[in-house]
Amino acid sequence: MMYVCTACGYLFEDVSSPEELPEVCPNCNATKDKFVEYDPALEAWVKKAVAQHIAYPDEEGADLRAPNSALSSHIRFAIVGAVRQLKQS
Ligand SMILES: [Zn+2]
Repeated sequence: MMYVCTACGYLFEDVSSPEELPEVCPNCNATKDKFVEYDPALEAWVKKAVAQHIAYPDEEGADLRAPNSALSSHIRFAIVGAVRQLKQS
């Protein structure tokens, strides 16, 4: 399973149970209640679409596809927000 910090977009990979998650996010110090389960298949799908429009890596040589790059975090925010809206409607 994967989890994402909804405060900053940080990704927790290879989590076998929620008890394994740290009490606070290592990136932004948000507490555990901000973490939600996450489906990486959605992200892969969005990245495939994005890849047709931008270059990897960026001008500074950073790999934008890396799990905790700024782009990955922003894609994750968008996905988490969209999934929440779907669940509410
Ligand atoms: Zn965070």
